[in-house]
Amino acid sequence: MEKTIYANIDRIRKKIPSSTLLVAVSKQASVAEIKAAYATGIRDFAENRLQTALLKQEQLQDLTDIRWHFIGHIQTKKAKKIAENFSWIHSVDSLKLAQKLNSVTVDMSSAPQVCLQVKVLPDPNKYGWSPTELLEDLANLDSLEYLNVRGLMAILPWGLSPAENLAAFKSVQSLAEQIKQQNYSRIRMEELSMGMSGDYELAIQAGATMIRPGTTIFQQ
Ligand SMILES: *Cc1c(COP(=O)(O)O)cnc(C)c1O
Repeated sequence: MEKTIYANIDRIRKKIPSSTLLVAVSKQASVAEIKAAYATGIRDFAENRLQTALLKQEQLQDLTDIRWHFIGHIQTKKAKKIAENFSWIHSVDSLKLAQKLNSVTVDMSSAPQVCLQVKVLPDPNKYGWSPTELLEDLANLDSLEYLNVRGLMAILPWGLSPAENLAAFKSVQSLAEQIKQQNYSRIRMEELSMGMSGDYELAIQAGATMIRPGTTIFQQ
């Protein structure tokens, strides 16, 4: 098991710039598999379900330098617990959730870094802002004092060709550029979280700074 994970990670590392943060999506991985990935130097792991993640965090608490990323949809009632237990939240997908996260982090010593989840192509099965909706909500988002907005996160619809896929990633990149030019005081746009097992190389071509592969790391 370890050898396969080492080889998988090695294969990915050879294809990505060293400046790209490799966030290993461990939602389907066991604690032993996470330890194997950790042994290769990975420190960033992503989960999409709170309860499962908390169990893994407890079993891995000796590895104190792991940064946990949350990538699943968040019900507002779970926002506080998620803010307390994750360094990054990639899946902030509505103004209402952003406001909730802002209010629950008011007296936290270290609030998580967040990405705003966008849908550059319509996708009824996914959460997130359309570009138009996001542009409308930016002023409100910028007023949230405790929210550390660092960039955008995107998940693309299934079944795109590589060319369509690249075009979609590039529109995420240009949306981030457009937001940057509006010079908000708090909102930062230096991170692009995009690219999964099947498309991370395309995402990097479009400026991804964080990629989120899962199966291609942990598959045996
Ligand atoms: C599951 C998941 C991934 C990883 O997907 P793979 O196809 O296993 O690489 C990345 N991002 C999000 C938001 C996910 O839910």
